[in-house]
Amino acid sequence: MVSADGATTPGTLHVVSTPIGNFGDLSPRAVAVLRAVSAILAEDTRHTRGLCERFEIRTPLFAYHEHNEAAATPGLVRRLLDGESLALVSDAGTPLLSDPGARLVRAAIDAGVEVSPVPGPSALLAALAGAGLPTDRFTFFGFLARKGGERSRAIAEIVALAHTAVLYEAPARVGATLRDLADAGAGARATVVARELTKQYEEFRRGTVAELAAYYEEHEPRGEIVIVVSGAPEAVPDVAGLEATAAALRASGASARDIQAQLVARGAPRNLAYRLAHES
Ligand code: SAM
Repeated sequence: MVSADGATTPGTLHVVSTPIGNFGDLSPRAVAVLRAVSAILAEDTRHTRGLCERFEIRTPLFAYHEHNEAAATPGLVRRLLDGESLALVSDAGTPLLSDPGARLVRAAIDAGVEVSPVPGPSALLAALAGAGLPTDRFTFFGFLARKGGERSRAIAEIVALAHTAVLYEAPARVGATLRDLADAGAGARATVVARELTKQYEEFRRGTVAELAAYYEEHEPRGEIVIVVSGAPEAVPDVAGLEATAAALRASGASARDIQAQLVARGAPRNLAYRLAHES
């Protein structure tokens, strides 16, 4: 758009969420935005064409995916700066979540172009919403690396995490990933495998990591999968043992301050260590 003083007003980059399996989940605002923009940037234009036909969206489609994003981004930012508004979609769900788009969003922001999301479906949030595990804090891991140090570090991070972890996984690898988590120490943790969300065969299978590892090693799932793993339980302090240690230290003449330090070194929470160190 060109204003009265001849300056061009940049367009807007809309980041539009699309269904993860149920066309009913495309919001009316998403349809309106996809109809109004100059072009839709799609991960796979054939895939998005089906969505557009279904909703009578006749906007031109432009391929934007991991193989051309580096080359295509500058030209797209130029178009935005020249006043065109564009919509970014991925094959399913919310762009940028294990999907392309981060580079364009960053470049648009850096160029001073407004970026506006049209929120909607995402397998991440759908899985969390139905899993029944704590959602007050969570870490999204996307797809884990398939092997090597990067994979073992991510597995160790999930095992150590005190809050919920969410992973995307290919169906053929669900059993192996749960097994790796169990072997690394998370076997007893409550977990949920969410499959085919929003589709006809939607399913939430619940159990411990070890139980579901055994199940999926025997029954390879079909369809799309999200794994939700609850956080590590807080270590319960051995209060009786700590009391005995405090008494022994006191009997040997240790100061309250030393006793407190020794108890903390043995894993006691600070407030408990303080109380036991100051009890006579
Ligand atoms: N950006 C998408 C989103 O917001 O959900 C995710 C894209 S990622 C390439 C695809 C992965 O998301 C699948 O392999 C699966 O792990 C998960 N996924 C997508 N749709 C799903 C569904 N309907 N049910 C379960 N998981 C799904």
